[in-house]
Amino acid sequence: MNIDRYIGKDYSIICANIRLAQFLKHQYAQQQLQNGLKSWETPDILPWMSWVRRCWSDLRIRHKGLELLLNPTQEVLLWQEVIEAQVDTSFLWHIPSIAGQAQSAWQIMKEYRIPEFDDSEGLGEDHLKFRTWSQVFKDRCQRENWIDASSIPERIGNDLVRELELANSGIVLVGFDVLTPQQEEFISKIKAVGVEVVHFQEPEGPVAEMQVTQCNDISEEIRFAAQWAKQKIQENPQAKIGILAPGLRDHRQQIVHTFEEVLSPGNLSYEHEHTPLPFSITLGRSLLEYPMIAVAFDLLALKPHALTLSEISNLLRTPFIRGEEHASRALLDEILRSKNQQIYSLREIKYHVVQMGKKGDSPKLFVRSLSNLFEYQKTLPVSDTPSSWSDHFAEMLEKMGWPGERQLNSDEQQQNEAWSSVLEKLASVHVVRSRVKRFEAFSILRREAGDQGFQHHTPESPIEVMDPQGAAAMQFDHVWMLGMNENTWPRPVVPNPFVPIRLQSRFGVLHADTRLFLDWTERLQQKIIRSSHNVVFSYSCFDGDRPLLGSPLLPRQERCDIKNSLPETIAFQQVVFESGETEEIADFEAPLVENHSGGTSIFTDQSQCPFRSFAKHRLYSRGLEEPDIGLSPMQRGSILHRLMQLFWEDVKSQQELIKRTPEQHGELITSLVDQEIQESQKTLPSVFTPQFSKIEATRLKAVMTSWIEIEKARKPFRVRDREFLVEESLEGVNFRGRVDRIDELDDGSLVIIDYKTGVQSIGDWVPERPKNPQLPLYAVTLPGNIAVVVLAIMKQGDDFGYRGLASRQDVFNSGSSIRDPVKKFEDDLTIRKKFLFDDYAEDGTWDDLLGQWRSDIESLAIEFRKGYAPVKPMDSYVCQYCDQGPFCRIGEIRKNRGQS
Ligand code: SF4
Repeated sequence: MNIDRYIGKDYSIICANIRLAQFLKHQYAQQQLQNGLKSWETPDILPWMSWVRRCWSDLRIRHKGLELLLNPTQEVLLWQEVIEAQVDTSFLWHIPSIAGQAQSAWQIMKEYRIPEFDDSEGLGEDHLKFRTWSQVFKDRCQRENWIDASSIPERIGNDLVRELELANSGIVLVGFDVLTPQQEEFISKIKAVGVEVVHFQEPEGPVAEMQVTQCNDISEEIRFAAQWAKQKIQENPQAKIGILAPGLRDHRQQIVHTFEEVLSPGNLSYEHEHTPLPFSITLGRSLLEYPMIAVAFDLLALKPHALTLSEISNLLRTPFIRGEEHASRALLDEILRSKNQQIYSLREIKYHVVQMGKKGDSPKLFVRSLSNLFEYQKTLPVSDTPSSWSDHFAEMLEKMGWPGERQLNSDEQQQNEAWSSVLEKLASVHVVRSRVKRFEAFSILRREAGDQGFQHHTPESPIEVMDPQGAAAMQFDHVWMLGMNENTWPRPVVPNPFVPIRLQSRFGVLHADTRLFLDWTERLQQKIIRSSHNVVFSYSCFDGDRPLLGSPLLPRQERCDIKNSLPETIAFQQVVFESGETEEIADFEAPLVENHSGGTSIFTDQSQCPFRSFAKHRLYSRGLEEPDIGLSPMQRGSILHRLMQLFWEDVKSQQELIKRTPEQHGELITSLVDQEIQESQKTLPSVFTPQFSKIEATRLKAVMTSWIEIEKARKPFRVRDREFLVEESLEGVNFRGRVDRIDELDDGSLVIIDYKTGVQSIGDWVPERPKNPQLPLYAVTLPGNIAVVVLAIMKQGDDFGYRGLASRQDVFNSGSSIRDPVKKFEDDLTIRKKFLFDDYAEDGTWDDLLGQWRSDIESLAIEFRKGYAPVKPMDSYVCQYCDQGPFCRIGEIRKNRGQS
């Protein structure tokens, strides 16, 4: 670039954007190194706005009375204050966003020299409001002797321009395709006082060799661009490559991930020491997106009486706080999740930690730090100076030992520095606001961190990913422009809503006028085409299911299929996988155990998936609970179980049930439900709010009242046992379980009842591997004449009622008008066939079924003891509700087998 003759020669080089300034500085440094120099004077290269600010700062050194220049944080806050004073804040305004738009409108008016608009412009409500706000903003600045950055060129005017201390040789403008009227005017004033101003334009190079390729979607475009860049770098490691993406912000994450995977796959591996990436991307991620900073904000937002489970859970698992109690913190996380409670108080957390301490290790340091944090919070004033809030926030983080005790890596150190600069910006707000409340200080801090596009300092890289606008005036060897679709190139114009569109068009605001913007985009594209040896344009044919067209600005030439010329790249996992030798060992048998004790779910799990049974009952593996809002199905079931138990403790038999009047039933049900709700309010206060308690009480009363009718329609019975404890052994497996209820019929035979609050089918009892053998297990192990095995489905809807099997016709059902709630085993040939196979279908008996069940369940017990544990789910449905997926890796198995 012939700009070299100006750099380092006492010229100030003013660039159109930051990226170009960095690029020129780097290029200059490379030249000095090539010339054998070890040190050199830093050239004066800076973007336009930094230069304008510097001019003003220099002037202020000599003229103490000049206005104080507001920094961007102070400026937005001032707009925010002005707007808050003028609008009704009870409306759903998002003031910080409106302040940002107003600031941008003010800047546009200054840059394009748009005069204050009068009524003849046909002003809308937004324009009128902005007119008022800008007047107040201006008055306030005048009164306080402040100035905003966009007003500086105008303020310097003809008088102060003579006092500017500009570089001896003059200034050079680089990368300015179009100057705004304000820039033109300012430059002409500088020229008028005899300063040399060079508007540097890169001499046009020859038109690059061009290719246009179409891809399936944006993911494919990004991948091809990454593979292509890799190929170019392999061919010539010195090559300079530009990947230009309009709408870079929308695809930033995907681009970073794909380029990292293709160009530096080792970086994606766990705990790999990250090497600098061979590409740089101009658009930084918001500081808030980095886990270390996100944890800082989580800590500052904590409230002692309302700690959400996700907040606590995140803190318990983060490495960015004090303490090495990782195992005990993980255990506390598990305990809190198992309670299905969304909100905890510090007191409740302390309680659980004390309980943990009685059994073993507990995260004492974590709770102590949390207590210290909340104690400190109590000492904070309602409002304070911004700089004091900056100190308070730092102190709050210190109480939790943020950012942790381990050595920060270089990326984290840079984030820490960026965090300090955000705190400094908060402190700088004192110029505009002497005192702020805590939540205001917090939101300023959050906005600053959110706005700050943070980027790690990386050495200059051969591949630059940037927005096409940033590439103007830069030179590359190869360029790939991706995302060249009709809706993205040219980018849609976005006029500012606070300035009348007609005015914006009339004064030539680039991003407000379609025609101007199209011209500008075409010129930019031409520059790019002439700044490189070859340019590839790519566009997508689909966005999901939506078909897309290429941009009308694409060169009119044959589409080429670039895919075949690209090198094959394989995913990092595959590289690792393929570098190893796979040895296959069929290992699905664990060591035999002579005896094993557990719950009845051993049999259910062994039947549904042997590995699950092994993992849960021999290795005691459990997934972490994911609490739901409201009651979990299990909590809902327990409440109903308790209610039914108490109800039958009082009523005892069907005879008594029929004898009592509906009013008596109503009274009993109401008192039981109210008592249960009160208990639940104590144990689950965050779930059983007054409103929820009312709804749940109504629901429970309705379910129980309806259930009475189901019981009345049965053959006479008395309730013999409730929550009956079964402790038995089958083939060396000792199991414990509780039968919800056992009724005795008039002939002395027994009915086994299992309450269900969800739907379940008796098809789950089908031999020879019953999917859910719990009730068959009770039927074959309980003493007495078991005549009926039934599920009491207490979920309102079509399935409400009994479902089950009975040894004889009419042993259970009275044959009343109620829809047949029990399948009659003896009468139903289909059921017989299903349960006893064709051989027995004609003459099979109830005892045959019980015998079959016993032998099926014994087989399961033997399998379990022998350690038979293949990953062999009965069907894909059982995996849906299993928490062992990450352990058994069924997903990978299915993927390798090509199953969904
Ligand atoms: S996820 Fe499926 S295969 Fe894995 S243990 Fe659970 S049931 Fe078995």
